[in-house]
Amino acid sequence: RIEFRNIAKRFGDVEVIPGMDLDIADGEFVALLGPSGCGKSTSLLILAGIYLPSGGDLLFDGHVVNDVEAKDRNVGIVFQSYALYPHMTVRDNIMFPLRFKKTPRDEAIRRVNDAAALVQVGELLDRKPSELSGGQQQRVALARALVKQPQLLLLDEPLSNLDATLRLSMRTEIKSLQDELGVTTILVTHDQIEATTMADRIICMRAGRIEQIGTPDDLYDRPSSLFVAGFIGSPP
Ligand code: ATP
Ligand code: MG
Repeated sequence: RIEFRNIAKRFGDVEVIPGMDLDIADGEFVALLGPSGCGKSTSLLILAGIYLPSGGDLLFDGHVVNDVEAKDRNVGIVFQSYALYPHMTVRDNIMFPLRFKKTPRDEAIRRVNDAAALVQVGELLDRKPSELSGGQQQRVALARALVKQPQLLLLDEPLSNLDATLRLSMRTEIKSLQDELGVTTILVTHDQIEATTMADRIICMRAGRIEQIGTPDDLYDRPSSLFVAGFIGSPP
């Protein structure tokens, strides 16, 4: 269970998130939707432990994790740009998050093989990222996020660099993978179709605040404002 208790984030004088409350249940698939600059990536980076909140508390399973370093949080993250390490093979890329854990070599190799098989890149382990297609790179990034068997999976517009066809099939794949693993997942997207088809609940954000949170049907049928309606695509 993930809780934001009055989480705030400021950069210098700019308050990007003034104070956010949020509660996400285990195994939930939540989509974070909202315009550019509203604080979606910032929220994920706070969850990942890459940004420290400037106020409030972040709780994982009832424990405050504000001071827990990123490497010690059990969180997998996929960024918009895949950010694979270009000089490393696919195998080493996927293995990278295990470097801080004292995972025995054969256990690490088994984990990498499992994660790679899960996203169907098992045949590509000896290649370099430059020798992969966009979709394959995206899958490798996903395998790297899953290799630690995270309790929380954070996806920041993971499909935005893919062409329309591939985006559709990856959407289905990520959804069924999430079902299968039951891992709590937060997906940031600009794409309302992606949000409504994949998520159990949608958080519609505006200028660092939660404008509305609910099931896709809630937001579609009962948007709380014109802003939400405009975003989800139905009149209020
Ligand atoms: P997009 O859809 O364009 O990715 P977003 O919702 O992910 O947008 P964020 O990246 O969270 O937006 O940024 C929210 C606000 O915080 C923006 O105004 C941005 O300029 C600012 N911001 C984000 N990171 C930093 C930083 N490291 N330093 C200063 N300002 C930042
Ligand atoms: Mg962003």
